[in-house]
Parts: sequence; structure tokens; C-alpha cells
Amino acid sequence: MTRDSDAPTRSVRMEDLVALCARRGFIFPASEVYGGINGFWDYGPLGVELKNNLKARWWQRVVRERDDVEGIDSSIICHPRTWEASGHVEHFSDPMVDCRACKKRFRADQLDDVGACKEGGAHDFTEARNFNLMLKTFIGASEDAASVAYLRAETCQSIFTDFRRVREVARQKLPFGIGQIGKAFRNEINPRNFTFRSREFEQAELEFFVAPADREEWFRYWMDERFAFHRELGLASDRLRLRDHEPDELAHYAKAAADIEYRFPFGWQEIEGIHDRGDWDLSRHTEYAGKDLSYVDDQTKEKFVPMVIETSVGIDRTSLALLCDAYDEEEVEGGDRRTVLRFHPSIAPIKAAVLPLSKKIAEPAERLARDLRRRMNAFFDVSGNIGRRYRRQDEAGTPFCVTYDFESESDGQVTVRERDSMRQDRIPIEGVAVWLQERIEA
Ligand code: ATP
Repeated sequence: MTRDSDAPTRSVRMEDLVALCARRGFIFPASEVYGGINGFWDYGPLGVELKNNLKARWWQRVVRERDDVEGIDSSIICHPRTWEASGHVEHFSDPMVDCRACKKRFRADQLDDVGACKEGGAHDFTEARNFNLMLKTFIGASEDAASVAYLRAETCQSIFTDFRRVREVARQKLPFGIGQIGKAFRNEINPRNFTFRSREFEQAELEFFVAPADREEWFRYWMDERFAFHRELGLASDRLRLRDHEPDELAHYAKAAADIEYRFPFGWQEIEGIHDRGDWDLSRHTEYAGKDLSYVDDQTKEKFVPMVIETSVGIDRTSLALLCDAYDEEEVEGGDRRTVLRFHPSIAPIKAAVLPLSKKIAEPAERLARDLRRRMNAFFDVSGNIGRRYRRQDEAGTPFCVTYDFESESDGQVTVRERDSMRQDRIPIEGVAVWLQERIEA
């Protein structure tokens, strides 16, 4: 495709992107009619397609294409003991301070950019206190301590608790992994940067179980594999990097960790973490549940608790990176300006828009759109002048527009316009689907 993801890139202003996302229905505040709810977002018709394409790509690469990875879809609410074993009940907290004057709450380790107090001048902070980030709920009719449960703060804990059953039913031997995509919830104190830090978000996680001697090799393998994934999505090379954690950043149980970071308009930030978690998780669940989650090597007869290499990517954060990366504005012929989302065709929400030049030839054009829709997300638009219709598709990131004109009926051809170069080619109607498919999958 046309986009050269190695070319130096320009930065989008967040306010322009947020406005485009709302205007075109990618992403907008949840419960908007009530004024929104901080840290929660809704994905509209274009946003859900983008996100689904990303999830499908992950599932294809990480689960389907591999015979050493199985998929699951576990429940959001787990047995509350899960979160005691994982350490979340005790440790999953941020130190917070309150301002006595303006009553706002801030993370104690992020006081540099909190701005002035609304009373004017400096804030009057309390001592730091730990604030647990898990969202609590109650199960059943009573609201006492015995009925407390949590909305999962990460999707992976069920992978650990399901480890034994999945391994047995799938008849897997080490090394092998379990992947899942799903919602996670964190009571972030200060949701910010659009969807980047939300309270409800989606993760795609892989827990890959290996023998102790193989952990370093697999850690490096997954680091490379996951970095390549983000490059394949079309994210620009000068906006993507792999950053090893310093020893003092590591969780107490982790041997090694690296983040894949994207350079957002608000700076370099993590979109995915790759962690060598050792045998911490399986050992803890063995201890708390009283069930043996160890593994016996059928060759050596050695019994051990597998080590875990985790890859954990935020679907919302990566969608945001894709939006930031794709956003462009440029001057076109005639002094006009256009906003264009230069998505890689494989993740673009709409693959092709069929546009008849006039309402009089809408019917055969619509037939073509219907035919395309059986294979890809195609859009049909008959209203407005053709230039304006092209601009609307540019803004939605649609890589191809198929224009049906007055000659199409007689010569059996249509004009295909490519989004980035705006180049136009005339091709036979019966070959349109294959022509598009070749370019979408390239
Ligand atoms: P951060 O330090 O930014 O809070 P984290 O290190 O706690 O992130 P992990 O627990 O490793 O994040 O979660 C894995 C992935 O889940 C992250 O790389 C990110 O893409 C996503 N994620 C985590 N927290 C959020 C959030 N509040 N909103 C959106 N995505 C999130």
C-alpha cells in the first residue's frame, strides 16, 4: 500500500484528533447525553470496526496461526480469592494525596503537573494514602463483606486459574500459551489523554508457559514477535520503540520486562508490556486454591511449576496509537485542505466506498456495493458532490473509493481512487473485489 511507515512523521494535535473522533463517530464520551462519565468511552460505527480489526489481527497472529497457543474467553468476575493470590487486594494501589482546599485527589508520584489550586495559589495536600485501583461490586442480595467481588483489573488471572484444564483439554505440552481478549477495569484516579488512561478498557493477553531453562529465550522471542506486530499494523518506525525496564522498575516477582512504547502527542508511552513473570502466578494460585498447578515433563519425568512469559497489549491504547499515527492534514489541488486518516488498509474501518456519480445510476452501483459487502466492509454513498464524498471517506480512513459513472454501464468499468496518492485507475467491474482484496491483504 501507499503509506510508507518509515517516512518521518508529523505529530497530530490531540484536540484535532478528539474532535475528528467525535465528529465521525470513532470514539466519544460514554453516557454523553448525561455529560459523560470520566474515564469511560464509547466506540461508534467506525471505532468499533477499527477495534475489531485490531483484535482480529491479534487473535489471528497470536492464537489461530500457532499450534502452541490456545484461546479462551473467561468471565469478568473471578472468585475473590483470585485477587488475594495475585497480590491485587494488597498491593494494587497508588499512593494518593487530597487537597484540603479544592478537595481534588492526585497521585502522589505525579504532582509536577497538577496546576494551581482553584482557591488560587498552592494546594494544601494531606499525607499520601494508598488507594486500591480495583473496582468493587457485590454479588447476590446482600452488600456485606462476604459478597464483595471485583471487576477484573487484568484478563490474565483467569488464564492462570484455567491453566490446568486448558492444557489437559487441548492436550498441550510445554512450551505453550493461552491467549484471551477482554475487558479490564481499573479505578484510575486521574483518567486522561483521551482513551489512553481509561477506567474500562480492553486487553489482549498471552501467557506463555515454559520450562525454567527456556525462559530467557522465549522472553526474547516474544519481545521480537510483538514488536514486529506493531510494525505490521503500519505504526511509523520513528514513533515506536522497545524499552527494557530498569531493575528498579521490575515487579518483585519479575525477572525481566520490556515495554513497547509509542510516541503519542503527549510523549512516549507504553502500549504493550512483555514480562517474564517467573512461576509467581501459578505458585500463588497453587497455594491459595490448594490445587496443584505444576507440570510433569513426560520425557524426563521432572515435575516443576512452569515459568510464564506474558505479553499484554491494550486494545484501546493501540487503537489510539493507530489513530494518532494515521492522522494527517494536507493541501490538495485548488488550494483545498483535506484531513485524511492513513490507516493500513487491513485495519481501516471501511475498506471501500462505492460512489455513483449520479442518483440515476444508483441501482447498479448499489448492487456492486452489496456484492463487496459479502467479503469486506464496504460503504455506499450517493449524496452530495463527488469531491465532498471523497473527503468524507478520506476522513474515515477508507483506502479505496469506487466511482460508478455514466460510462460504467456501457464499458463495464469503474474508477478506483486510492486514498493517499489520490491516483485513479479504471478497472473492470467484475474484477473489483479481487483487486481490492489483493491490496487490503498486501
Ligand atoms: P500504566 O503504567 O500505563 O498504568 P501498566 O504498566 O499498569 O500501565 P499493565 O498492567 O502492564 O499496564 O497492562 C498492560 C496493558 O494494558 C498496557 O500496556 C496498556 O496498553 C493497557 N492498560 C493498562 N492500564 C490501562 C488504562 N487505564 N487504560 C487503557 N489501557 C490500559
